[in-house]
Amino acid sequence: MFLPVSSRVSFPEIEEKILKLWTARDIFKRSVENRSGRKRFTLYEGPPTANGRPGIHHVLSRVFKDVMPRYKTMKGYYAPRIGGWDTHGLPVELEVEKALGFKSKTDIERFGIAEFNKKCRESVFKYVEDWNRLTERVGYWVDLEHAYITMNNEYIETGWWVVKQLWDKGLVYQGHKVTPHCPRCGTSLSSHEVALGYEENTEDPSVYVKFKIEPAGMAGPLAAFTDKPFSLLAWTTTPWTLPANTALAVCGTAEYAVLDMGEEYLVLATERLEANGLHNAHQAGRVSGCHLVGLQYQPLFDPFDSGVPVYRLSPTGMTAAEPGEIFYPVIATDYVSMEDGTGIVHTAPAYGEVDYESGVKHGLYFIHHVDLQGKITGSYPGAGKFVKAADPLITRALKDRHLIQKDEKIHHTYPFCWRCATPLLYFAKQSWYIRTTARKADLIENNERINWYPEHIKRGRFGDWLQNNVDWAFSRERYWGTPVPVWRCDTCQASDCIGGVDELRSKPGFTGFPEPLDLHRPFVDEIAYDCQKCGGRMRRVTDVIDCWFDSGAMPVAQQHYPFDPDSRSIFEDGRFPADFICEGIDQTRGWFYSLHALSTLLFGQPCFKNVISLGLILDEKGEKMSKTRGNVVLPETVINKHGADAVRWYLLTASPAGNTRRFSEKLVGEVTRSFMSTLWNTYSFFVLYANIDNFRPGTQKHDLASELDRWILSELNQLIAEVTADLDAYDPVAAGRAIEAFVDYLSNWYVRRSRRRFWKSESDADKLSAYNTLYECLVKLSKLIAPFMPFLAEEIYQNLVAGNGTEKDDSVHLCDYPEAEMTSIDNVLSGSMRLAMKASSVGRAARAQAAIKVRQPLADAVIAGLSQTERSGLEKLADAIAEELNVKCLKFTSDADSLSADEYSTVSDGPVTVGINKRLTPELVDEGLVREITHRIQGLRKTAGFDIADTISTFFETDSVTERVMEAWGEYVAKETLSRDLVNGVPDDPGITAETFKLEGHAIKLGVKKTT
Ligand SMILES: [Zn+2]
Ligand SMILES: [Zn+2]
Repeated sequence: MFLPVSSRVSFPEIEEKILKLWTARDIFKRSVENRSGRKRFTLYEGPPTANGRPGIHHVLSRVFKDVMPRYKTMKGYYAPRIGGWDTHGLPVELEVEKALGFKSKTDIERFGIAEFNKKCRESVFKYVEDWNRLTERVGYWVDLEHAYITMNNEYIETGWWVVKQLWDKGLVYQGHKVTPHCPRCGTSLSSHEVALGYEENTEDPSVYVKFKIEPAGMAGPLAAFTDKPFSLLAWTTTPWTLPANTALAVCGTAEYAVLDMGEEYLVLATERLEANGLHNAHQAGRVSGCHLVGLQYQPLFDPFDSGVPVYRLSPTGMTAAEPGEIFYPVIATDYVSMEDGTGIVHTAPAYGEVDYESGVKHGLYFIHHVDLQGKITGSYPGAGKFVKAADPLITRALKDRHLIQKDEKIHHTYPFCWRCATPLLYFAKQSWYIRTTARKADLIENNERINWYPEHIKRGRFGDWLQNNVDWAFSRERYWGTPVPVWRCDTCQASDCIGGVDELRSKPGFTGFPEPLDLHRPFVDEIAYDCQKCGGRMRRVTDVIDCWFDSGAMPVAQQHYPFDPDSRSIFEDGRFPADFICEGIDQTRGWFYSLHALSTLLFGQPCFKNVISLGLILDEKGEKMSKTRGNVVLPETVINKHGADAVRWYLLTASPAGNTRRFSEKLVGEVTRSFMSTLWNTYSFFVLYANIDNFRPGTQKHDLASELDRWILSELNQLIAEVTADLDAYDPVAAGRAIEAFVDYLSNWYVRRSRRRFWKSESDADKLSAYNTLYECLVKLSKLIAPFMPFLAEEIYQNLVAGNGTEKDDSVHLCDYPEAEMTSIDNVLSGSMRLAMKASSVGRAARAQAAIKVRQPLADAVIAGLSQTERSGLEKLADAIAEELNVKCLKFTSDADSLSADEYSTVSDGPVTVGINKRLTPELVDEGLVREITHRIQGLRKTAGFDIADTISTFFETDSVTERVMEAWGEYVAKETLSRDLVNGVPDDPGITAETFKLEGHAIKLGVKKTT
């Protein structure tokens, strides 16, 4: 016997029960260890930060990460999954700063780095309980007991080892470069971090500035324009950078127009006249860009009066500039755009990458009048204010001096800090770099060896990113992170990179080793040793490492490679590279990249073989979820209502992995109502009847006389083959959809067509075959869905298999994944059955068109438009179709036109036409009435709450016509409704459940009572 299964089901309740069962039987661990010694399947867990609560996008990636290792385990792979936590970096520091009410780095330093980092350490697991609970609740199987933690000394030590490897290969350098800088966080960002924070439609000033040329240098074709002021017009959206302007760049081969504006001449590219609304201005002449090159102009502000240091750039470095020099040249460069602006580019070497390069090349002045908090320094307009607040003040000062031609606003895309939403500023700064550009070809070539899902990411988003590779700015001027392991001599500036703790300890004159060991700031900053060159002291540079580097180093750092002896075999035993990783699409420039870059630079090979890049998750209306919009859907809410399986199934099948998807409680609810209920009802139907008939699985062989049984088993095996192929191709979406289609066949055709076989089969062998077939379908389905819906799969397996001792495994997750029996696949039969389903649905439409009730039997139906093969296939299934259409006989014709409209109601779908004979004989009318009565009695049985096997007495009171019909069809009615007797007259007995109906104009009172 199976445990009874209610058709009313609470999936969340079942899941809580299954969670207890898994814990009690230690199923996750056993599912892994059972396969030990087999080929490994390695998942790398992209580490989340537990200082914030998990959201629905975390559930999304966890679901996709879970399904593959579960599948591979059932396919026989050894698949330990190590969890991980990202614990360093700006995100953590920011939360602590917020809690302490800090506004800048000064606040932190006043508070003390040791205290601050202690707070950071405490905060990183603030929500770990929430994470663990949700991880368990969604059925994400991952080893959290042995999770790697990026702030552990061992993890940091491997990080140092990685830097040292790169250092030894000449791939680490400290550069003075213009980098994106967050003035609030006081640190540089790497280019992949910048990519995370672009905001569209940002309002900024759009200012056109006039730069007055010194007339002394105007010769050749320009000599004609010395009669009044001659100015070059340049455009900027960052007026705050204007005090740092030290050159104007033009395109040497472009043509420039000289406009006579009355009191002055204005110059801009001819190509840009119209865009700037100056095409109607009077043109005094045209000159080539090369004639402008070499001119000198008057600076907008004199830097030597401003109180900020002024430098001269050169290829060998920066030197202090002398007051009195005048050098503000017009230069020719290849970066002058004719897409926007005026064709004359304002150049400020401190605030732009190409500007800086020009500065070095042309020996320009370098003026940096903004501090690291983004405030204007010196005596410039807006001094002491944040640059964006200083913009209008600087513009105003220039306007007062008639140097502004136009002052407007524009809306454009601008980068913001991805953590704190402060606008980023481009600053020339010292920073540590990994020279990824030196291995660009390898990065691109190794990417070719990775399978991307969706595939277009490979050469699209990720490939483009690699093509446009820039060196990785991997240091941060911050506190809570892996320290940059570089020590520098305070006397001769010689530097060392340290690759491990023992190496550091072995240095001469070593002091300051922290007890207990803590490789964080400020302790590690205390460690010093003797310089081997000059006898000075080696002290650590103060920077820490970007947390993207930490997570990118996880393949080796999680094993404490190469320090732990066990770690040294990762390249041989399948722990490296990973078979599979999966995260959101935003990680193409984050974790996916940092893994790929470090692996390529360290080991010359890719770090992962297969990667699913998941699309964004939006709310029901397709809008981004955010706290401010108030449309955040909490995963717990939906799970508590519909269960984790429903959430998993929805996320896994609603749209292709790479697509943007919508999420809401309602959308998940639809999954429960459609797919899960269908499956559950089929399962509950089976258990109900199997228990009545005392069916015992596994004792009898299939008797495949039934076409239906052969067909559904063919479909089942086809499904197994398809799901296996899909999952092998990392496509759980296609696999899930195939399962859905099968469950629909199983429920809406196989079970529906087989109902009578379970109930009152003519032969025991046929009934047994039906039971065996449905049992096999359900058991194999439970295994097929196990990686997707681990709870429901377990529930069904426990009742149908484990509870009966039918198989040895006491959990579905310990089973092998089903193998397709190719000999059971009959494509011809499948084709015929699909055609039969189609013919039935077309036939039902024809009935509906004639407005004939479904229970009214009709004489015949005719099918037209079939090929000879199709027809002979359908002839074998004629009984099933006739029953579906409730007709006495099914006919075929090659000529659809032969069906007269008087006699037949016809509907076509493609080539297939079905005609339904509309003519009703008195006998058919009687039979229709009997079917309606039978249906009402069945309804009363349900109302009375009888079990389906209970026998009853049926009472009726009606007119003479119906009485005659009841007598003529009594035997049929009795058999269909399990009535021992049919009694004319409904006695006044409270034990009888009775109701009066009006059927085809006849009133009839019906009553039922259970017989004892
Ligand atoms: Zn920031
Ligand atoms: Zn030295």
